[in-house]
Amino acid sequence: MQAWRAMNPATGEEGELVLPIEPYLVDDVMEHAWESFEGWNSKSVKERINYIRQLRIYIVEHADDIAQEISWSTGKPKVEALSSELMVLLDWLLHTERTAEKELRTRKVKTPLMMRGKSSYVAYEPRGVVLVISPWNFPLYLAMVPALSALMAGNAVIIKPSEVTPLIGQLMEKLFAAAGFPQGLVQVVQGDAAIGAALVAASPNYIFFTGSVTTGKHIQLEAAKRLIPTTLELGGKDPMIVFQDAHLERTVRGAVWGSLTHSGQICMSVERIYVERPIYDKFIARLKRELESLKQNNREDTDLGSMTHARQIEIIRTHIDDALDQGASLEFGQRPVDGKLKRGLQVAPILLTNVKPSMRVMQEETFGPVLCITPFDTEEEAIELANNTSYGLSASIWTHDVERGQRVANGLQSGSVCINDVTVSIANAHLPFGGVKSSGIGRSHGDAGLQMFCHEKSIVVDLGQKKTELHWFPYADKYPLFLQLLEGLYGEKRSVIQMFRALRALRNKSRY
Ligand code: NAD
Repeated sequence: MQAWRAMNPATGEEGELVLPIEPYLVDDVMEHAWESFEGWNSKSVKERINYIRQLRIYIVEHADDIAQEISWSTGKPKVEALSSELMVLLDWLLHTERTAEKELRTRKVKTPLMMRGKSSYVAYEPRGVVLVISPWNFPLYLAMVPALSALMAGNAVIIKPSEVTPLIGQLMEKLFAAAGFPQGLVQVVQGDAAIGAALVAASPNYIFFTGSVTTGKHIQLEAAKRLIPTTLELGGKDPMIVFQDAHLERTVRGAVWGSLTHSGQICMSVERIYVERPIYDKFIARLKRELESLKQNNREDTDLGSMTHARQIEIIRTHIDDALDQGASLEFGQRPVDGKLKRGLQVAPILLTNVKPSMRVMQEETFGPVLCITPFDTEEEAIELANNTSYGLSASIWTHDVERGQRVANGLQSGSVCINDVTVSIANAHLPFGGVKSSGIGRSHGDAGLQMFCHEKSIVVDLGQKKTELHWFPYADKYPLFLQLLEGLYGEKRSVIQMFRALRALRNKSRY
């Protein structure tokens, strides 16, 4: 395989050469994973926690360098790399140190009356080898959280990072080594879609995929052929609903940040803004002033970074052309120019009005610095407009009336909803994260964020002192007694007396 040259998308500066793996080596990767699994699985959760504590401390000590590396590879401002990627990862690490033992502990559950004398437990056992396939927009966070969750649960892990940000793959290798994780337990496999596909075909025991809907569907099909369970974290087309009683200043700033942080290349970016008609004009005027105040440069004080992946610019152009052809108005900014861009992959913010639900920019994920605004008249209309895409990742509602906010939240088809804020739900490790409709299958984070990487094993314990059980042989004369028992236990007039009578008779018939 040919080596790739890493590139800083904001400046066009070239970096190190990265060597992708040869496809025929994928089987070796799987074998190494199994070799390291046993040793890791035999460690207690407490022991495993020590590794992530080391990792947290190392990351904090090297935060500036790591933020710089993320910024270099993605084109996002350093402050975003620190605040939206590293801090959220660190908070998740601390949360996991505190909760992993409790979450993965074998737990006792209730045992029904019919099983009197026995006790029941649920044990959490690792699945084996977990494959994490990750995208380029949050190249560290979106690979590390599933990988570390799987590790905490006792699995070996293979990470297939995005080929667009290969240096972050190298950074992850360095981080795992620095935290002292056993060699070979986490393998970072550099490669493109073909390597991703080969890893899926090598039958890992679980696949955690984050990326586009198209790739997600493809992986799901391939996984189904091998009965591999998956989690799919896919794209979004997030709506923002603004009521006239919202705090205007905060809402405008929230709209600008939610749409433009990392140049809109976030699965939870605000991609559609619905504003209640009485404040529609005022909102747009205020929004334009806010857009004018943003800085976009290659210095430390920049607000806006660059696109990470040149392919995205073509998607933005296509969506804007389609919208303008169908009568949308360009209120701010301009269509990104064709040809070579002067300053790396920077795209300045674009504001569209007079957009219609049928336009591509209102239906497909744009993943760029594009704001689309539509007025609405009623709460019901706002919900209908917001639900009118195939996506359902997250949404935001802006209103002074929190009760109304919660009512509207109930009507939204969405994995998460923020009221008077955007995207922050992912930053709370206690909350589950994931989408509905085409935005994905399954949830990560939250109370069961580690358990998802486990088999739940059900265990029933009987002390083994009785000779037999009521439902064992012989069956003679038991049928009417079981009928009486089920009526006493579950019938409309549940009767303890009837139940005990039936039980006593059954015992006699069972030579108890
Ligand atoms: P992508 O689907 O093109 O690629 C994602 C990863 O899948 C890459 O590592 C790629 O090499 C790999 N891949 C591609 N084809 C494959 C195949 N056939 N088999 C196995 N692996 C394959 O996505 P992208 O462009 O890297 O990322 C952007 C997308 O990710 C956007 O749609 C965005 O919304 C989504 N995303 C979702 C979330 C979320 O949590 N829901 C978070 C971030 C990004």
